Amino acid sequence: MWRGAAWRLLRAGGGGAGTGTGTGTPRAASGTAAAQLRRRLESELEDIRGAGTWKSERVIASRQGPHLRLAGGGAGILNFCANNYLGLSSHPEVIRAAVEALEKFGAGLSSVRFICGTQSIHKDLEEKIARFHQREDAILYASCFDANAGIFEALLTPEDAVLSDELNHASIIDGIRLCKANKYRYKHMDMQDLEAKLQDAQKHRLRLVATDGAFSMDGDIAPLREICQLAQKYDALVFIDECHATGFLGPNGRGTDELLGVMDKVTIINSTLGKALGGAAGGYTTGPKPLIDLLRQRSRPYLFSNSLPPAVVGCASKALDLLMESNAIAQSMAAKTQRFRSKMTAAGFTISGKDHPICPVMLGDARLAAVMAEDMLNRGIYVIGFSYPVVPKGKARIRVQISAVHSDEDIDRCVEAFTEVGRKHGALP
Ligand code: PLP
Repeated sequence: MWRGAAWRLLRAGGGGAGTGTGTGTPRAASGTAAAQLRRRLESELEDIRGAGTWKSERVIASRQGPHLRLAGGGAGILNFCANNYLGLSSHPEVIRAAVEALEKFGAGLSSVRFICGTQSIHKDLEEKIARFHQREDAILYASCFDANAGIFEALLTPEDAVLSDELNHASIIDGIRLCKANKYRYKHMDMQDLEAKLQDAQKHRLRLVATDGAFSMDGDIAPLREICQLAQKYDALVFIDECHATGFLGPNGRGTDELLGVMDKVTIINSTLGKALGGAAGGYTTGPKPLIDLLRQRSRPYLFSNSLPPAVVGCASKALDLLMESNAIAQSMAAKTQRFRSKMTAAGFTISGKDHPICPVMLGDARLAAVMAEDMLNRGIYVIGFSYPVVPKGKARIRVQISAVHSDEDIDRCVEAFTEVGRKHGALP
């Protein structure tokens, strides 16, 4: 009865003043402080536009996948800029699992985990993640950003030290900022510099080396073997962020540590459910059980934020099932990456990184990267140009991301379009 009446009211847009369902124009706050704030914000926005660093958002009117429809037209666009490495974002079994979890467990928990927000599916997914990574335990977060924001403060004290690659993801940088440990920043993948910093850090109780497993701007892979050797020599722990590795790097897609044969040497892994593992949302930490137990007691983004919604848990859980059943999807992505990289190199382009589905087409000039990306879209290929300050000055590029669901024809079309556009704009002879 109640539900039927409320639903009819909502659908009719009824409810009158105060229900929040009206369609009135937005109200601007009045007063001098509000006017001052508005002027300041508008001037800051103008500065961002003036600096050429404005980020606009293209609106997609279809599911995530290799072929997109953009809002306001553009159908059949070939998409090469999602982190949908395994193509699971729109996989029918992943979607079905989400619908089943939604129906069985509801829309959400309206609670944090330790009050009344833990369902059996959360425990099952944590167990599955730990099994996938061959670790003792795992803990879920609303995002990997939260996992990174929550770990360093909970784990490290002013007696300890953290050593971080200078190009680590923003969320690692922010997480480290929140902790009171002694902070060292070593040059990107520079083992000499890391060793010097480890020597200096010997005076501290505990040392933690923190690195992205794969770096998303360059598609390069951290030298984990060397990092682990140094960690052993200087009695340090190793933490890796596997957002751009989980599910597809290594023979079984377990990540950078599997790829480089150091699964038993990396102590802590943080990763995301929002990229290869179904692409919905969510993040996690996996590692030693006492660490996970401590995070449940102390990690602020875990303690003070809502539980992951069941549909999201359902997606990730099914994605992991698919990966643990067979490595065929990960292998297919690797073959397609190889096809793109070798054809682009043969065409005369420089592709940064090695064997990673992030394939940055290095162009140098920021304007060239912008006009070429625009011209690629005119040819129905969606790729994104990156320039300063996202990447260093003079190192502008177009980042291409390969997915297991791209066909060979999709990849060949992309290479052909790059070749045409590159010749037109002088990037190729
Ligand atoms: N770490 C890295 C390396 C990332 O690329 C990202 C996402 O862009 C994150 C962490 C944050 O992941 P999430 O989207 O789950 O918050």
